[in-house]
Amino acid sequence: MSDHTSIHNHENVVQPHAEHRDWLLCHDCGELQKVVSISSDNEMVCYKCNAILHSGQARRLELAAALAVTAMILFVLSNTLPFITLEVAGQSQTATILDGFFALVERNQWILAGMVVTTIFLFPLVEIFSFLYLLIPYTYNRRLPGHTIILRWLIRAQNWSMLEIFMLSVVVASVKLADMAIVHLEVGAYAFFALVGVLLLAYVKLNRRRLWNWINTNNYFSAFENEYVYDCRTCRAMVGESIVDNSHVCPRCGSDIHRRIPKSLQKTTALVAASVVLYVPANILPIMTYSTLGEVYSDTIFSGVIELLKEGLWGVAVVVFVASIVVPITKLVILIYLIWSVKTGLRRGARHRAVLYRLTELIGRWSMVDVFVVTLLVSLVQFGFIYTVEPEGALIAFGAVVILTMVAAETFDPRLIWDMLDE
Ligand SMILES: [Zn+2]
Ligand SMILES: [Zn+2]
Repeated sequence: MSDHTSIHNHENVVQPHAEHRDWLLCHDCGELQKVVSISSDNEMVCYKCNAILHSGQARRLELAAALAVTAMILFVLSNTLPFITLEVAGQSQTATILDGFFALVERNQWILAGMVVTTIFLFPLVEIFSFLYLLIPYTYNRRLPGHTIILRWLIRAQNWSMLEIFMLSVVVASVKLADMAIVHLEVGAYAFFALVGVLLLAYVKLNRRRLWNWINTNNYFSAFENEYVYDCRTCRAMVGESIVDNSHVCPRCGSDIHRRIPKSLQKTTALVAASVVLYVPANILPIMTYSTLGEVYSDTIFSGVIELLKEGLWGVAVVVFVASIVVPITKLVILIYLIWSVKTGLRRGARHRAVLYRLTELIGRWSMVDVFVVTLLVSLVQFGFIYTVEPEGALIAFGAVVILTMVAAETFDPRLIWDMLDE
């Protein structure tokens, strides 16, 4: 059952019968359960694997709409107003959020520039627009074209929008700079901090199940009575196996749907292998060079942490150590363990492995902290002979490790963990 069976039988297309049922299929283990109503401070969790199925916090879509409007205003303010000012020896340098991106473009660091602009500008912008396009019409009960595609996109882009991580990087960079320069956070930075808070709250209030139900009430598609159903990873519709095998497309939202993610193990293994290879240069090569008064120093990820400790900046040292060293290693070890456990058919500890899987999904993005810190330093610390910072080779290798391990976690199908137990 763990293998994905592909029946490409297009002459024999089954006609799905659509209806609404108050059921949910667990994302992580595939168990079918009845939805119960819960109070606002409760969560409905899967009885088999403890995954959160839905949260009572998320009941006020109207509030989410108001938050999205606020977020849009704050987004414009934080990207147009000055963000941070640095003063060194009477000279001062002011940067906006996107100056880090421009600094990388000037140095022909296209891939890094792409990573930065996507995660701190494009995806957040798409995210806020999607919120507005979905939630304002929802408030007035008006259906607009493209709602299905937009909500599908919003759910997919969520992990790749990294404003809160950039916020942490601003704090780290400011503390790092504080002993050599005077750092002022400008209006743009305060607008940005508020934006992060507002967006987080908007997500807490976003009831995806209700939104999908509003777009299309039908969430149960089957061709035969009592056939086995599979869960759509995007809209949580339950789709009968004959439809899954015939069309591979969710009738409700148009996402790909499979019994199991096709070639899940092979994809995850390949991505993890590539990350392990890149992990070496990411840690051996320097991540940035700084020159001051004619002398040039370079830092690797690790020596950067040591440097912070020497300066007595314990708090920031711990943050950077956890985000740049502990998280990537933990993530690689967990992914390798998950692949190994599925390959060898391990039956013990499935619940633990489900927790580990969710952990990798949750923590992976935070490793981007160091990438953003260096980007910020490069855009800010340009004082000619007195002090300059330049990005180095390890930065791109490290960024690639973060992104590859994030994709690796996305390609891993957690239901594989439970397949051994069902046999
Ligand atoms: Zn479950
Ligand atoms: Zn769907």
